[in-house]
Amino acid sequence: MPSSLCEALTNSSISFDYQKEDDWITSGKLGSREAVLVFRTNILNPKIRKTLSEKSSAQVLTDTKDNEEEKPVQSPQKLAEKEPTSSEPSSKEALSGSTQQKIFLLKKPQQCDKLDKLTFSSPFKKILNRYSSSDTSISSEGEEPASSSENKSRVLKTSQNTINIKLAADLSIESGYESIAPAKTISNTEVIEEDQEETSEDDAECGINMPASKLKITYKFHQTETKLLRKLFNVHGLTEVQGENNNFNLLWTGVHMKLDIVRNLAPYQRVNHFPRSYEMTRKDRLYKNIERMQHLRGMKHFDIVPQTFVLPIESRDLVVAHNKHRGPWIVKPAASSRGRGIFIVNSPDQIPQDEQAVVSKYIVDPLCIDGHKCDLRVYVLVTSFDPLIIYLYEEGIVRLATVKYDRHADNLWNPCMHLCNYSINKYHSDYIRSSDAQDEDVGHKWTLSALLRHLKLQSCDTRQLMLNIEDLIIKAVLACAQSIISACRMFVPNGNNCFELYGFDILIDNALKPWLLEINLSPSMGVDSPLDTKVKSCLMADLLTCVGIPAYSPEMRSHFDQKWSRFRSTSCLRQATFPSTSQKTKKSKKKGAVINLNLTGEEQRILRNARLQYSRRGGFVRIFPTDDSMQRYGNFLDSANGIPISTPNVQSQTFQTPIIQHNYNQMLHQNLYSKDGRQKQDDNSEADRIWQYERALETDSEIPFVKKPTVEKCEVEGRRLRKIMLKKISNGSELTPFQARQTFSMYLESVLRRLTEDPKDNHEKIILKFLNKFGGSVKPPVMFRNMQTIKVASKARSAMVAKLLGDFLENYKRDTEAYVDSFDHFGMIPSSAYNQFLMHAQESDLEAVLTLHTNVTGIMPFLYNRCGLSVPPTPPIPSGLHGFLRALPSMVSSTGINRELSKYDGYFKNFDKEKVFL
Ligand code: ADP
Repeated sequence: MPSSLCEALTNSSISFDYQKEDDWITSGKLGSREAVLVFRTNILNPKIRKTLSEKSSAQVLTDTKDNEEEKPVQSPQKLAEKEPTSSEPSSKEALSGSTQQKIFLLKKPQQCDKLDKLTFSSPFKKILNRYSSSDTSISSEGEEPASSSENKSRVLKTSQNTINIKLAADLSIESGYESIAPAKTISNTEVIEEDQEETSEDDAECGINMPASKLKITYKFHQTETKLLRKLFNVHGLTEVQGENNNFNLLWTGVHMKLDIVRNLAPYQRVNHFPRSYEMTRKDRLYKNIERMQHLRGMKHFDIVPQTFVLPIESRDLVVAHNKHRGPWIVKPAASSRGRGIFIVNSPDQIPQDEQAVVSKYIVDPLCIDGHKCDLRVYVLVTSFDPLIIYLYEEGIVRLATVKYDRHADNLWNPCMHLCNYSINKYHSDYIRSSDAQDEDVGHKWTLSALLRHLKLQSCDTRQLMLNIEDLIIKAVLACAQSIISACRMFVPNGNNCFELYGFDILIDNALKPWLLEINLSPSMGVDSPLDTKVKSCLMADLLTCVGIPAYSPEMRSHFDQKWSRFRSTSCLRQATFPSTSQKTKKSKKKGAVINLNLTGEEQRILRNARLQYSRRGGFVRIFPTDDSMQRYGNFLDSANGIPISTPNVQSQTFQTPIIQHNYNQMLHQNLYSKDGRQKQDDNSEADRIWQYERALETDSEIPFVKKPTVEKCEVEGRRLRKIMLKKISNGSELTPFQARQTFSMYLESVLRRLTEDPKDNHEKIILKFLNKFGGSVKPPVMFRNMQTIKVASKARSAMVAKLLGDFLENYKRDTEAYVDSFDHFGMIPSSAYNQFLMHAQESDLEAVLTLHTNVTGIMPFLYNRCGLSVPPTPPIPSGLHGFLRALPSMVSSTGINRELSKYDGYFKNFDKEKVFL
């Protein structure tokens, strides 16, 4: 009996070419409730797209469908036997799936022998499952990567690594899997730089051939970084909807969602957040939730975060704690990220009284690589809170501080020694950015697997470390889950609507104990290096395949919508759908379902989804449930309903009747890990998981950069256009606020570039003074506000100033987007001529225009609107190079000016009226 969805498809008047959708659709036949899209990174690279169908080494996938997790993956050799030998299909054919050929992973020839033994003959052969994002048999032959760092000789690299890994790999062949694991299947991804064009025509052409395009599958972005994701969506044929249109299949937001949107989700719609997940991602909430578990379940079980206080409320508690165990303490603004505003103090009395902050015990003995402090970013996917299903991505990113670690108190001000944020360290002139995706242990950004191999070579117990990291993740989720589950019950109409990827920041101390620092909502998908791109694009493709974007046609969707609105009008509470005995029997007859007469319809759906999702997990490692999860964490779950309980007294209020008692965690665990061997998922054991974390990224594939064509600046042309602009301004033309802001931000960008390349003590002071007066979120941290306290001029200090200026610029540019010149105004400089000038202008050209404009008009449209009470008088600008920069601090209203700083304000003292530049 076909499902209602199949009927909808059959009745459809539109006929789709679904002939070979198997490459891009999985988990069920098209038209079935379970069919979802497959995402792969290999087609991000146009060259690979072309060669996919040409290479004879492409592999044929076995069609597994419903029970695929139980079928073993075939070895490359076996698969190769099946490939067609003649009449090579065109790339379009391959992509539209009109040939029998399918894409499968094949290792590089030189790796094959070892990997075959390891991968396909070992008990862990199924780990390289067919839906790994990087399935590809072709190595890319891209353009040269971006110029390599001249600092390469100073690279932070474990020089013995390569040799040792080879040795270890040899050993592992003899002794089984225990030693160093072989390469992960992440390879051949196109590197997308921050400023790169988002979508090429080629991408769009590729997308047109995809089932998602024919199915009219849509996505919507809301306040989020979109480059990498947009590219992934476009090449896979999804189309964007904008504005108020909520007819999306996938909503991807960078912020928490409006409950209204969540409430009205149809069963085929997916959103990338759970309601109330701020319980995990807000620093103060996270600490409070974990602290509650420490009280409830015992400190020894939840000792996963450094002791933390929320100021100003807990100021007294902080002092008491400090008197017991002296500092240092790390002070973080309550709502901030990327290291903004963080500073370290020796004692609480160094923290300003009014500071609204989260203060944590500073971990003074961090794990260091080659003397540099490091921390971890790992990616955690939660696909459901009840039952709890948590995956950890096999690859993570290790961030290193640029300056060698020294715990002496004199260095506490130095952010490039104590903080590992890329956004801080990237401005340090010693920061090494690896320019090759193969370099996993080079420079100040490593992969997690490279760190594990590095530690293993030093005889560290990496197995225990990863188990502790898994444990930390599970406990953090358990501590926050209760409130999220009750929100899901209230607002989420369908069990599969929400999923969420969290960025866990973890610090490892030198006893190899992991500490949770924070959990990031919408972890950054910005890509600043080939390594970053490789990891993040694979992560994203695997995530989308794993969570499953339903492959429904518009007809199927509208059918569902009608049905759904009827259902919604009666109730939106999932738990209210408690099936009768007759329902149980009916449901269990569904084709392909694993029949278990003891399960309700909802339970069968949950079980089936969990299995299908697991079969699509790609590089994700399921860490909950596992075979021993009930044994380890069962105590933290309510014995009746399986909910992780952190506030027993609230429980009765939150989970009142008419909710029907169920225990999905218990049910899922029992069914996945029962002694009945047929259903046992044996490739998720502790050993398998550790093996997967330690596998290296494939190391010998070239990764092409695709660069946005940049217009070469012409100095002579810049000077010529500058003269024209100066003349226009002298004759009374004015810049529009938009033009003025564009000029100012380009000018500051040039200053920033100069600061990082050639730090100038003097200019750092001016900038700091300007930012300090400007205030807001880029206000320098307390310890750093007075440059005079930091005596030694250093690269780290320059980096700090540059970071602050970078943050200012980011906000400033975002604000500038609101100023648009839709047409040329009378008396203003025509926008086309001005854009031409900006295209070629150098720092001195921009400065000359800003100076003259300010002196002639007496206004500062780059900082203030024309009038307003808080607009300070416009100061005259001195002539000469950097005169504008010197005047900059005095252009900002002096309310709140740091008194101490004003006495160093040399600008007014040295100002020579005669030299005003006109
Ligand atoms: P943000 O969200 O601003 O990045 P984090 O909590 O991630 O703030 O901290 C930023 C950096 O500060 C981290 O990279 C880490 O190196 C360091 N850090 C944070 N908390 C501690 C701590 N308790 N002990 C030692 N170092 C810490």
